[in-house]
Amino acid sequence: MQEDKINKTEDEWKKELTPEEYNIMRQKGTEAPFSGEYWNNHEKGMYVCRACGQELFSSDTKFDSGTGWPSFTDPINREKVELKSDESHGMLRVEVLCKRCGAHLGHVFDDGPKISGKRYCINSLSLGFCKENGLS
Ligand code: FE
Repeated sequence: MQEDKINKTEDEWKKELTPEEYNIMRQKGTEAPFSGEYWNNHEKGMYVCRACGQELFSSDTKFDSGTGWPSFTDPINREKVELKSDESHGMLRVEVLCKRCGAHLGHVFDDGPKISGKRYCINSLSLGFCKENGLS
């Protein structure tokens, strides 16, 4: 188990997150495609978990998937995320969660570009972004 794991009650999360963020990150919702802040973001920098701030994805692994959600070939480190099989909505998918705080991030699919073959399809509402020069 990760030493700095965050365990908050649902009431605590409800107070900290906006209703939209709570719906995605704690109730495993999905934002509408092309609606989020980052699907079309091409700036260089680091994407972090919006709930706990852990660094998750580098802009170096971001690619245009055409889906309307920010898409990455890999997390910065596989230890940063937890993968869980998800049979909801009549589909067999692999859910991606922040390993530190348990926030739902999105799903990972096997149709990514050659580098890893993976497509981490992540909700903008689960992410924050820090520009490479330190300004956000
Ligand atoms: Fe987190």
